[in-house]
Amino acid sequence: MDRSANNHVTEPIGILGGTFDPIHFGHLRPALDVAEQLGLANIRLIPSARPPHRTQPEASPEQRLAMLHLAIKNTEHFVVDDRELHRQGESYTVDTLLSLRQEFPETPLFLLIGMDAFLDIQTWHQWQRLITLAHIVVMQRPGESMSMSLDLDSWYQQHLASQDDRSFLAGKIWPLEVTQLAISATHIRLTIAQGLSPQFLLPDAVAQYIEQIGLYQNNP
Ligand code: ATP
Repeated sequence: MDRSANNHVTEPIGILGGTFDPIHFGHLRPALDVAEQLGLANIRLIPSARPPHRTQPEASPEQRLAMLHLAIKNTEHFVVDDRELHRQGESYTVDTLLSLRQEFPETPLFLLIGMDAFLDIQTWHQWQRLITLAHIVVMQRPGESMSMSLDLDSWYQQHLASQDDRSFLAGKIWPLEVTQLAISATHIRLTIAQGLSPQFLLPDAVAQYIEQIGLYQNNP
């Protein structure tokens, strides 16, 4: 079982969900930046089974999970959490946060999302409930527009965190500058499908696994 049995942790923890198809340095480095800036005990990487907002992943859940384990081997800051893969139906973030909140009732939770995802947050299932369960850390990617709708902007301003809010269990928005890496899983899949090397875009162990089992070689 990937989930930690320790439910007495009170140090804050981070949560990064994604398809991780495959995991790459654009996920890992910004997440590490956030962990260090906020002093998080760890970041839980949570692969989604059936993401509701996008096309379904090319690699199977087992393959995406295997790549996550390879990526974080010998690292301190990351934990792989497979809870969404055990759930039926769509992978809703609100359900994941509810389950984490139940497991960690006394722990500040920080949900990490990219700015692109944040601009879309009002379309997420029960989106207003998310901030009652966790803080939201907004990480910015290169070349992204910050332009929010008036509605979203006012919600954002209303929940903007100050440094003292770190011990709250949930409820604040933390915009953070993270290392800018213009890497995407889509680009990696295309690179591999073109017969080119994905080296230096993702951990070597993940690249080797992809090559060994012939993942992403056919451009869908
Ligand atoms: P795809 O290209 O298949 O859409 P992706 O590279 O965007 O995949 P996801 O697994 O969908 O990866 O991303 C999970 C989370 O990580 C999202 O919140 C996304 O915004 C964020 N993220 C992905 N790549 C980066 C990056 N290079 N820098 C910062 N955040 C990123």
